[in-house]
Amino acid sequence: MTAGSRRAPAPPFATLRPEYPPGSQTLFTGDEIREAVERLASEIRAVYGREELTVVAVLHGGLVFAADLMRRLDMPVRLGVALASSYRGGATEPGELQVQMHPGLDVAGRHVLLVDDILDTGRTLLRLRDSIRAMDPRSVRLATLVDKPSRRVAPLHADFTGFTIPDLFIVGYGLDWNERYRNLPDIVALPPGGGR
Ligand code: 5GP
Ligand code: MG
Repeated sequence: MTAGSRRAPAPPFATLRPEYPPGSQTLFTGDEIREAVERLASEIRAVYGREELTVVAVLHGGLVFAADLMRRLDMPVRLGVALASSYRGGATEPGELQVQMHPGLDVAGRHVLLVDDILDTGRTLLRLRDSIRAMDPRSVRLATLVDKPSRRVAPLHADFTGFTIPDLFIVGYGLDWNERYRNLPDIVALPPGGGR
């Protein structure tokens, strides 16, 4: 690139002003999330060493976390995606759960790490883990950035957990409310009653 074609530098995060939900409270700043991702990555590196790992990012919420996490891993990494959605119809209570594996996802004989934003009732990750197990992987483990154990109904725990929180509805860093706020650099809690 020549000096003449160089663009003005992008503004630092601190100067961007995305819109936050009214009345929300910051639970974890972008810096705190980065530290948690670093800690999780080192736990994951300690488990797998140099062994190849297939990261399966659970869309859409797990996209931002998976993107950051996989860049802190130094073993050979393959990437797949799974799509999980529960129609919420404008509310935050989940509706019917739908899961869909990335067509052609090849996990037979491989170490798989399912990466999602949040473990709530556990229904989504239980269903996805069972679908992956049916594909004869060498191992399946779960990484979640946030855990809300008080709401668990499925018998499931994550192997790698960033933060444990009480029963709050959170958005930001991939997590949405009605498809909004996924781009916030922080994780914030909606005011009581604002979520559900
Ligand atoms: P589970 O199946 O464990 O109940 O929940 C799975 C999905 O529900 C999560 O991957 C996430 O998409 C959504 N979810 C659960 N709790 C929250 C929350 O506090 N905030 C947001 N934005 N989504 C949530
Ligand atoms: Mg999700």
